[in-house]
Amino acid sequence: MNVIPEEYLLSGGGTSINALPKVSLHDHLDGGLRPQTIIELADSIGLDLPATDAAQLGSWFENQSNSGSLVEYLKTFDITTAVMQTHEGLSRVAREFVEDLGRDGVIYGEIRWAPEQHLGRGLTLDEAVEAVQEGIEAGIDDVAQSGSSIRIGQLVTAMRHANRGLEIAELAVRHRDDGVAGFDIAGAELGFPARNHLAAFDYLAKEFLPVTVHAGEADGPGSIRGALFDGRALRLGHGVRLAEDITIEREDDDNTYVTLGPVAQWVRDREIALELSPSSNLQTGAIAAWGDDLLDHPFDLLYQLGFRVTVNTDNRLMSNTSLTQELALLSDAFGYDLDDLETFQLNAAAASFQPLEDREELADAIIAGFQEA
Ligand SMILES: [Zn+2]
Repeated sequence: MNVIPEEYLLSGGGTSINALPKVSLHDHLDGGLRPQTIIELADSIGLDLPATDAAQLGSWFENQSNSGSLVEYLKTFDITTAVMQTHEGLSRVAREFVEDLGRDGVIYGEIRWAPEQHLGRGLTLDEAVEAVQEGIEAGIDDVAQSGSSIRIGQLVTAMRHANRGLEIAELAVRHRDDGVAGFDIAGAELGFPARNHLAAFDYLAKEFLPVTVHAGEADGPGSIRGALFDGRALRLGHGVRLAEDITIEREDDDNTYVTLGPVAQWVRDREIALELSPSSNLQTGAIAAWGDDLLDHPFDLLYQLGFRVTVNTDNRLMSNTSLTQELALLSDAFGYDLDDLETFQLNAAAASFQPLEDREELADAIIAGFQEA
């Protein structure tokens, strides 16, 4: 079993979303394993699993993630990280991850993961990054063999609740010429402000390594303010609760009249990209203030107001999704057409942590691909 879905057609036009060139900015390495790979790697290290059939294990991940309990949700990562503690495990997972992105029509992907969580069987931080990079490069070759092409950047993540931020920032900078495109912090957001990792962010700013920060997922605009002010984030991991800084004054048949608070105003005017992940945002309760259905997601409000929205998967295994599927879900919910989907990809290309000329090449490839569709 793998999580690449069947063909998705854009409602109305019949265009295949699978084939459209796409950019994926927020996709966790330890959230995108193939169930069969987990079974094989677990077997090789003697780890017991809740199911030993790939389809059943895939369903278990999805059910745990839909349980509404954060404790149950986090158990899924205990299993995925457990099988990613060796060079072989990390490298294989990274390789297959890139292959799966390629089959999803992704032409550029940023893959984030936290090296500090992969040291349980003796790897050093640097060895872990090298193992992932080796897998990524093999995956890029596999995608090329299949007749497509893909580019990948690693985002090295530090865990918010731990205190290794500076060490991880230095690790990211050490590998910037060898696959690392940027830095991220992840994990428990509420109670663990970006400011706790100020030394890391100061260092990254001096070294000019791009930063994205998970913020506005499990905490509100105050956390986003910290990501921008202390983290100097160029993008926001989800950032969905930025919508709490937008006041809807009144609505009539055609228009919604709003007032932007200072954080929302800054994020929109500076074109700081929001790494929105529709299915994940529903599962984690990030949009609970607005409802529990995709139609309640402030994605469309943010898009219509001119925010630089991007569409992401977050954890493909836990949400049993793909970038194609997320775009199809949004299109069904909000009636988006090909032009809207193209805008989301161009937003993501513009916000990627690559040099300007590479971002322009990505944009050209997206425009050409959408013209052919
Ligand atoms: Zn995430």
